[in-house]
Amino acid sequence: MSKENKNDRPSLVGTRKNYPWAQHHSERSFMRNARIIGFCFVVLLIGIVAGPHGVYSQSDNSSTVQGAAGEPYPNMPAIAPIGVRIGKYLDVPSSSQGPPIDPAKGYRVQDLGKGLYMITDNAIQSMFLIYDRGVVVIDAPQNLAAYIPKAIAEISDKPITHLIYSHSHADHIGGAKALGGHPIIIAHEETLRLLKRDADPNRPLPTVTFSDKYTLRVGNQVLELSYHGNAHEPGNIFIYAPAQRVLMVVDIVFPGWMPWRRFALAQDIPGYFAQVEEIRKMDWDTFVGGHVARTGTHADVDVQAEFNHDVKQAAATALATTKPGEGLNPLDKNNPWAFFDHYIDRVAAQCVNTLTPKWSTKLGGFDVYIWDQCYSMEQTLRIE
Ligand SMILES: [Zn+2]
Repeated sequence: MSKENKNDRPSLVGTRKNYPWAQHHSERSFMRNARIIGFCFVVLLIGIVAGPHGVYSQSDNSSTVQGAAGEPYPNMPAIAPIGVRIGKYLDVPSSSQGPPIDPAKGYRVQDLGKGLYMITDNAIQSMFLIYDRGVVVIDAPQNLAAYIPKAIAEISDKPITHLIYSHSHADHIGGAKALGGHPIIIAHEETLRLLKRDADPNRPLPTVTFSDKYTLRVGNQVLELSYHGNAHEPGNIFIYAPAQRVLMVVDIVFPGWMPWRRFALAQDIPGYFAQVEEIRKMDWDTFVGGHVARTGTHADVDVQAEFNHDVKQAAATALATTKPGEGLNPLDKNNPWAFFDHYIDRVAAQCVNTLTPKWSTKLGGFDVYIWDQCYSMEQTLRIE
């Protein structure tokens, strides 16, 4: 490492022991020690007042101050753990990037064939389908709400007659109200239940719901909606355009990227893993995942499935080979939360170390969320 980039994330090769995130600890250590000295002074006063049976240790060693951070665990990954500020995240592989966005426009439209289009700002995605008398919009993300009418106007002057909700989350449909008009809104019945609960005026309630399958036929266009159970959240549906051979499933597969943290906040992680496999086996040509820059291919879904498999293996091995309680402060032996935290942190660290060599250059955002994925995986393996 040169002096110029000493605060940058180093190459992952041969720098395991540098713990770049730990440098931030030392940069902050003066202020922390100052606070600890003040804290210890107060403790000393309390000790004098409370007498020889005072609660706190009077040591000035920060590692014995209750609740304070100590040394990193042995074999700590170079990937910074959760809660530590990053100097520079890993570069995004070129294979993860999509076509550029015109900064003057703020969005791009991708022709998926036969009247179906994707619109994206390269972070979130929705679609629209043109038919002879109108337009069907599929999801109205908050961040795209202003762009959707402009994007449609580039191609058609027909009105929005239908709106389909992939699921209830505001980042995907929070722009629904802003689209205006009174379209027919189609969603799964669980989405209706959740939206009633959320009572968000920006997400109007669906006017048509279904439980298993629903086929929308408008003019000569068809969309097949289907429900495959809970994974990301109840009510999240598969949307298939048979003429275009496009499958849209939101918040499950992220072409070229890590899933968002904790397997994209999957409410049912075994269900999430199963849906990735289902998507993989289905017959389609283009995949729209609702996030990141580009559409997906079967190769992208294969990569996601392989990553899921590897995380599962790495977490299972780490759970089996990490010794619970090893190195725990004996004073914490009657604190079961501390006992498990100490175990699970070491499991996650081993899981991150196992996955880093193969995956850190393969998926965008690997370093951003790998700790989250490992924590989620060890948990689902222990209790589900
Ligand atoms: Zn979501």
